[in-house]
Amino acid sequence: MKSRTRFEFPRQVLLVEIERYCAFPDCRARNGIGLTKSEVIGYRGFDCVKCERWNDDTVTADSLPETWDIEITETDDKPN
Ligand SMILES: [Zn+2]
Repeated sequence: MKSRTRFEFPRQVLLVEIERYCAFPDCRARNGIGLTKSEVIGYRGFDCVKCERWNDDTVTADSLPETWDIEITETDDKPN
C-alpha cells in the first residue's frame, strides 16, 4: 500500500499586507503593499500605484506577525 505524501503549508505567515495612503495631497491613493519577510527588513517606502511617486515609509514591528520575530533597524535619528 502506498502512502500519500501530503503537502502541508506551514502555519507561518509568508506575506504581510500593509495599507498605506499616498502622501501627496493631489493623489492620496490607497496602496496595498504585500511584503515578504525579507522585504520587510529592507523596507523604506513604496511607489504609489496611481501617481508612481515615491513615498518614504517604514514598517513598525507591531504591524508584523509575531511569528516573524525580526528586528527592524530604525535608521533615522530622531531629534529630541
Ligand atoms: Zn500617489
